[in-house]
Amino acid sequence: MSERKVRVRFAPSPTGPLHIGGVRTALYNYLFAKQHGGDLIFRIEDTDSNRFVPGAEEYIIESFKWLGIQFDEGVSFGGDYGPYRQSERRDIYKKYVQQLLDNGKAYLAFDTPEELDAKRQEIENFQYDAKTRMMMRNSLTLSKEEVDALIADGKQYVVRFMIEPGRDVHVDDLIRGDVSINSSILDDKVLYKSADELPTYHLANIVDDHLMEVSHVIRGEEWLPSAPLHVLLYEAFGWQDTMPRFAHLPLLLKPVGNGKLSKRDGDKLGFPVFPLEWHDPKSGEVSSGYREKGYLPEALVNFLALLGWNPGNDQEIMSMDELIRLFDLSKCSKSGARFDYVKGIWFNHQYLLQKPAEEWVPEFDKILRENGIESTPEKEAQVVEMMKQKVIEYVDNDGNKKKRNISFVSDLWPLTKFFFVAPETYDKEDKFVRKNWKETTAMEMDELIGVLEALDDFSVESQKEMIEAWTEARGFKPWNAWRVCLVGTGQGPDMYELAAFLGKEETIKRMENAIAQLK
Ligand code: GLU
Repeated sequence: MSERKVRVRFAPSPTGPLHIGGVRTALYNYLFAKQHGGDLIFRIEDTDSNRFVPGAEEYIIESFKWLGIQFDEGVSFGGDYGPYRQSERRDIYKKYVQQLLDNGKAYLAFDTPEELDAKRQEIENFQYDAKTRMMMRNSLTLSKEEVDALIADGKQYVVRFMIEPGRDVHVDDLIRGDVSINSSILDDKVLYKSADELPTYHLANIVDDHLMEVSHVIRGEEWLPSAPLHVLLYEAFGWQDTMPRFAHLPLLLKPVGNGKLSKRDGDKLGFPVFPLEWHDPKSGEVSSGYREKGYLPEALVNFLALLGWNPGNDQEIMSMDELIRLFDLSKCSKSGARFDYVKGIWFNHQYLLQKPAEEWVPEFDKILRENGIESTPEKEAQVVEMMKQKVIEYVDNDGNKKKRNISFVSDLWPLTKFFFVAPETYDKEDKFVRKNWKETTAMEMDELIGVLEALDDFSVESQKEMIEAWTEARGFKPWNAWRVCLVGTGQGPDMYELAAFLGKEETIKRMENAIAQLK
C-alpha cells in the first residue's frame, strides 16, 4: 500500500478560550504536518449547542495567528472538504447514522431521562450495554409498529451504538504502543439525538476524520478512553483500512503537586493558561493571556514544544523551522509533562534578548506613556541597550525575595524610571545612600560639578578622560556618590553612560539637588 498523504486536524469545541494544552496539541499537529509536507485542518466541533460560547471560535483563530501556527484548510481558511463547522454538516451525519441503523450496528432508544434514572436506582452501576439493553425501551425490544408509532407521535429518541461484548479492542498508538481493553466495559454510546437532530462528538468526529481523509489523530491523553469506541466505529462503517493512526499526547501536569494543570494553578501562581487574554462574555471575568503578559510567540512555541517531547539532546532553543525538522511524534513521552512556567519565563528572556532594542521600543514606549512619560524612540532604545542585561528582584509565591534576568519589556520600567524622572527626594535611610554619602561627599560632588561644567563635549569618552584625570590627581572615588545624585540609590548603568544620556544640564541639576538635600 502506498503511503497516505499526511492530513491532520485540530478540532476544538468552541466552549471557551483555548487552553494552553490545546495550543500544544495544535502545535504538535502543525509540526507533524509540516515535517511531512502534509495538511493541517481546522475543524470546529460544535455539535453540543448547550456549551457553545460566542467569540470562542474567533479567539482560537486569533491565537494561532499570533503564534504563527498556520492551517491549510478549515473554518475561515477554506478547502475542498468543507463545511468544516460540524453544525453545518447535519445532513451528512444523518446519512451515516442511517447506515449504522440499516446494518444493525445501532438502534433507536426511547428511554426518557426519568426511566433511565429509575434504572440507575434499581441496578447498581447501571450501564446501557449488552447486559441491560434488552430491559430498556428501544428498537430491539419494541416491535417495528411500536417504534414507527412513537416516531409518528413525535417522541424523542437517541441512536445508540450496539457494542458487541467480550472482544479485545486494540488501539495502535504511535506514542503508547498497543493499548487494549475489553469491549464489555464499554456502554452503548449515544451517537445521535433526535431532539436537536445532531450527532454526538463520537459520531461526528469519526465521520469527519474519514471524509476529510485524516491520516493521523494527534490529541490529548484525555481522549484515549474514547479511542476503543472510535476503533469500533471505524469497523462498523467498514472503514478500518483507512482508519487514522492515533497518537495520544501526555497530559500537562501542575507546576507543583499532583494532577493535571488547571486554570486555578495559573491564578494561584500567577501565570496565564490561555494564549490571549479572554473576556468571558457571560461573567465578564477576565483571564490573563500570554500575549498580553508580554510573552513572545516564538518563546511560547519553543516552551510548549518541549512539554512532552525533546530532541534527544539538551538543545533547548529551537526556531519553528528547527522544530519542524527535529520533531518526532514517536519520541513523545507517555508520562505527563510538568508545566514549569518558570522555564517559560526563561524562554522569553532568551528570545527577548535576541531582539534589537528597536523592537523593544513600541512596548516600552507604551509603558512609559502609561506612567506619564513622553520620550523619543532613540532615547528609549538607548535605555533598553543600557539596561537589558540587568537582573530584577521579585517576590516569589512563598514570599521569598528572588532575582531573575529581565524577561519581559515591562520588567524594565521599575529599573529605568530615573532615566526619565529626576529623584524628587533623596532618602538618607537608603542603605546605598548611607554607605556612600559621607562627610566629605558634598565637597567632592561640588568639585565634580566644576569638572563637568568645563566639558563642551559630554560624550562618554570625553567625560571619562577628564574625570579620570581629576580622580587620579585628587585620590577620590566619586562614583557611588555620583550615582546617588543621578539615580537616588544604587541602581543603573555605567555612570558615564548615564550622564551622557541625561546631558550636562540635567546631570548637574540632579547633583546640585542631591547636595542640597543630603547636606
Ligand atoms: N472536539 C474535541 C476537543 O475539543 C476533539 C478531540 C479530538 O481531537 O478527537 O478537543
